[in-house]
Amino acid sequence: MNLKDYIAKVEDYPEEGVTFRDITPLMANGEAFHYATEQIVEYARSLKVDLVAGPEARGFIIGCPVAYALEIGFVPVRKPNKLPRETVEVNYDLEYGSNTLTMHKDAVKPGQRVLIIDDLLATGGTIKATIDLIEALGGVVAGCAFLIELEDLKGKEQLAGYEYKTLMTY
Ligand code: 5GP
Repeated sequence: MNLKDYIAKVEDYPEEGVTFRDITPLMANGEAFHYATEQIVEYARSLKVDLVAGPEARGFIIGCPVAYALEIGFVPVRKPNKLPRETVEVNYDLEYGSNTLTMHKDAVKPGQRVLIIDDLLATGGTIKATIDLIEALGGVVAGCAFLIELEDLKGKEQLAGYEYKTLMTY
């Protein structure tokens, strides 16, 4: 199956000059969504993971079915003021301004092997912040999985020394 057949290319979104890769056609197609999920499940099995973590919101969509298939837990990585209990936070720089991501303090137990799942790797800021959160909690980042990698944005430089897999590259 060619998963790229299910990715829509949207020019000038969310702003002029940006080409957005829209994964919603893939999610809407049962066969493609199942196939993509299975690829990540197989990868996760090879890493022996205890837990899946995913940044909001598209990391939830891909991460949850993988956790379900593996019969392991899923923990959310969220923007500030979304999680109701005590959190750890990390700030990271964007091209203009900065962002913060948070996790519950008890989301990961020391030594747990965590697979981070998101839809897309661009500059790597989101994945690096998520790695920092998991490590701050004492977790071990077993690997990272994405549907899509935008190679020009060099996100893989943020993943030096970590295992990662992408199903499609542009
Ligand atoms: P990064 O932090 O690596 O620069 O950006 C990755 C994050 O931004 C991911 O959480 C992803 O959901 C979102 N993102 C950035 N560009 C795109 C895009 O073209 N398509 C989709 N679906 N998400 C994107």
